[in-house]
Amino acid sequence: MFLIKSSYANKYFYDTIIIGAGIAGAATAYTLTQKNQKVLVLDKNGIASGGSGAAGAFVSPKIGKGGALQSLTNEAFVYAKDFYLEHCPQHFHQTGVVRLPKDEADAQKFSDYEKHNQNVYENYTKEMLQALGIHTAFDGFYFPEAGDCDAKEVCAFLLKDIEVVQYEVNKLRQEENGYWHVGDYRAKNVVIATGFESNFADMQYMGIKGTWGTRGDFVSDLALNVSMHQSMSVGANIGGIIKLGATHEKEVKESVPCQEKQALGLKEKASALINVSDLVLKEIFCGMRAGSKDYFPLVGKIIDVSKMLEITPAIVRGATAPLQYREHLYICNGLGGRGFVFAPLMAKWLAECIVDDKEVDERVCTDRLFWKWCRKSPDLEYLR
Ligand SMILES: Cc1cc2nc3c(=O)[nH]c(=O)nc-3n(C[C@H](O)[C@H](O)[C@H](O)COP(=O)(O)OP(=O)(O)OC[C@H]3O[C@@H](n4cnc5c(N)ncnc54)[C@H](O)[C@@H]3O)c2cc1C
Repeated sequence: MFLIKSSYANKYFYDTIIIGAGIAGAATAYTLTQKNQKVLVLDKNGIASGGSGAAGAFVSPKIGKGGALQSLTNEAFVYAKDFYLEHCPQHFHQTGVVRLPKDEADAQKFSDYEKHNQNVYENYTKEMLQALGIHTAFDGFYFPEAGDCDAKEVCAFLLKDIEVVQYEVNKLRQEENGYWHVGDYRAKNVVIATGFESNFADMQYMGIKGTWGTRGDFVSDLALNVSMHQSMSVGANIGGIIKLGATHEKEVKESVPCQEKQALGLKEKASALINVSDLVLKEIFCGMRAGSKDYFPLVGKIIDVSKMLEITPAIVRGATAPLQYREHLYICNGLGGRGFVFAPLMAKWLAECIVDDKEVDERVCTDRLFWKWCRKSPDLEYLR
């Protein structure tokens, strides 16, 4: 901890300032506070005002042919469902989630996927699924530990004992002694958890990109006790609401108002899976998912790109050099379409990096993207 003399300075001085109050910032703030840090969270629009507020927030495993991303996702899933059950069970609905094949070809693949199901699951026949009210011609997997979060409520819960200020950060300034200045606030560490809008520092090498999505909440009396994923997600009926999500609208590059036609399109699509006859649109949510180039999260230290280029300009032509980092500047981002799955484990790893000086797991450390960016990125063409 830092020693500050005046009481004024103490009031505005923190161990860590987190920029962004989505699930990445909220989980990081919560975990750092549990490690006795004094934390301030700044968000330009308030808690869960970005992609996190739009999320269906399903927390379920990834199926597929194995591989590093599937295994990381499933490790994060186990951590996340235990985290929500322990800390905020009132906002995590462990309804179980069914995974359904899209078509005959997909159904064939499910038998290959089965050996890579690392989490607790059962095979449900199409007859069992139909008895649950699901329209399907194929068998599927049932993951009983999966479920969904109340997205905004989880973020608000994690931040309930933490100072959160509505404030748009336009600039980060670091004093010679290493302390960060953000407006009137000062801190030893800064964590950037701003989702798809990440313009601070030189972060182009991480290749953060947004994918716009819409979800609709529908009032319904349909008896649906289980959630499901196919080419879209349908939530179980919780308190008379069925969540339908989500679209992937690649053409949308900036935040725009939510479109009713997108939500109604989801209802149309869901008619292939459930009886939608009594579904009435109650509320539309939309937002951007921020993903990295390789779909793995981006967690930990941030490379000092200018310093690297100054010390070893030949890195743009394939030379390597010891990595230099921005002091006490960190990131938690790139959670893509699985922010509520990844955030608790990423927050744990980041908190251990900040407080205990532990290396972040190399699968999510941003270093992995740096060298290729140096060699290939058009951003650096003028230096080659
Ligand atoms: C429609 C939809 C459905 C989804 N469904 C699921 C799902 O079922 N399961 C799942 O796990 N994930 C889902 N996701 C993905 C999940 O929402 C994201 O992974 C998650 O939002 C990432 O959280 P974040 O905190 O990184 O970003 P965000 O939630 O976008 O938070 C970033 C915050 O930073 C703030 N900010 C930005 N710039 C500044 C600045 N200069 N100063 C101050 N504050 C700033 C923003 O206001 C925002 O609140 C879905 C996303 C969408 C859009």
